Amino acid sequence: MSLQPIPQRLSALRAQIDEELRACGRAPGTVRILGVSKKQPAFAIAEAAAAGLDAIGENYVQEAASKFADPELAGLHLQKHYIGHVQTNKAKAIVELFDVVQSVDRADAAHALGAAAARAGRVLPVLLQLNVSPAERFGCPPGDAPALAERIAAEPALRLDGVMAIGPLGAGPNEIARAFELAAKTFALLGGSTLSIGMSGDWREAVRAGSTMVRIGTALFGERR
Ligand SMILES: *Cc1c(COP(=O)(O)O)cnc(C)c1O
Repeated sequence: MSLQPIPQRLSALRAQIDEELRACGRAPGTVRILGVSKKQPAFAIAEAAAAGLDAIGENYVQEAASKFADPELAGLHLQKHYIGHVQTNKAKAIVELFDVVQSVDRADAAHALGAAAARAGRVLPVLLQLNVSPAERFGCPPGDAPALAERIAAEPALRLDGVMAIGPLGAGPNEIARAFELAAKTFALLGGSTLSIGMSGDWREAVRAGSTMVRIGTALFGERR
């Protein structure tokens, strides 16, 4: 793991992503970086935000609640994405804390978030989390994605804006590419603006498959505490 400061890592990552985009015939600047800040301190987020990071992702509701209240983050313009497992009893807290939920993987999660967002008087943008890897515990099976998308569309306070998937961890490049191509196919079918695929170890394969958002934790912030 590189010991470069966060701003340098962010600009190096941007440059590498743009290089990969050009190499596969896509326009530079068309992939957004989501900084995954779970198990990272608020000051690290503030440092990344000062360097231009405009969106962060968190996996745990409790951790996010205390971190977002940290004075280090006051006044920063950061879009907050929930990328952890949606427990229905946490739907209200998730809606209060986050701008976007990337991890809607089943009907009861959609319904709980839809009800909480309606009660809060807002429309919540969500992504459908697709399971493209047998080792992954969560995510909607690809064959069930159209039905889940309909359930999401039936919630007036939710707006389906694309697909999120976690690549097969520790797999070879061909298996990763196949998984991401499946995610891209489902994204093309369901529509929306965001295909959230690619993490620190597999963002190149994700960019080649059409990612519009990579979720980067350790390659940006370093090892988690
Ligand atoms: C932790 C996490 C990431 C970031 O992982 P890194 O390998 O540290 O980049 C991205 N997406 C999800 C859903 C995560 O849980």
